[in-house]
Amino acid sequence: MSSEAPAYKRILLKVSGEAFSYPQKLGLSAESINYLSKEIKSIYELNLQIGIVIGGGNIIRGLAASKEGLDRATGDYMGMLATCINALSLMDSLERKGIPTRVMTAIEIRAIAEPFIRRRAIRHLEKGRVVIFAAGTGNPYFTTDSAAALRASEINAEVILKATKVDGVYDKDPKTFEDAKKFSEVTYQIALEKGLKIMDAAALSLCSENNIPIIVFDFFKEGNLKKIILGENIGSFVRR
Ligand code: UDP
Repeated sequence: MSSEAPAYKRILLKVSGEAFSYPQKLGLSAESINYLSKEIKSIYELNLQIGIVIGGGNIIRGLAASKEGLDRATGDYMGMLATCINALSLMDSLERKGIPTRVMTAIEIRAIAEPFIRRRAIRHLEKGRVVIFAAGTGNPYFTTDSAAALRASEINAEVILKATKVDGVYDKDPKTFEDAKKFSEVTYQIALEKGLKIMDAAALSLCSENNIPIIVFDFFKEGNLKKIILGENIGSFVRR
């Protein structure tokens, strides 16, 4: 166990599907999953409780599929199943690194994972198991960002760490606009008013109502996750 003291006792990490695939590609990449589990291991060793909500965009997104003719709700259910595939791959990678892990799903698939039961999830966390929350909220027309806001509220997480490929929240797309300005801190209200790309409005509203701060950070820069857990000011802070 590390002697470094974590700034948080219980966190919710939101990892999008893009962290499971090669950059700009669909599907799964062993290398990316290994990076993901290595970064998670580096904070697990700091002795804190870790819940993870997994996205599925590397496999399918219901909204995008519906634009190609698939029924929206069916596409959304497929998207939720996609998060389960990602969750199992992360579970496998974490366990091979010696980290006890439980996958809990919002849609029952008892043969492969536990159904989500709030008090059991908390018990797992208290016992030092990394809990991977899969299948989103269990409902179509939602996103895994909403699932992150929901599960963070339910497990009383102190913070949501939103892993992205940009180093924070900008007033406009930094890839398109050279003069894009980064917010080191922004309130939920301003984020909602300006439509800043942090999370969808439903997720952001839930975080605001339950007063759960969000840190948006560049997950693909090695060591960033650990620095945040140790209290370094990295990325953008979203709060009241
Ligand atoms: N999804 C859903 N309900 C939920 C969470 C997810 O219907 O509560 C579906 C939705 O189609 C979504 C897909 O699962 O597009 C994958 O999730 P998301 O797009 O949030 O993944 P990410 O962008 O984080 O990779």
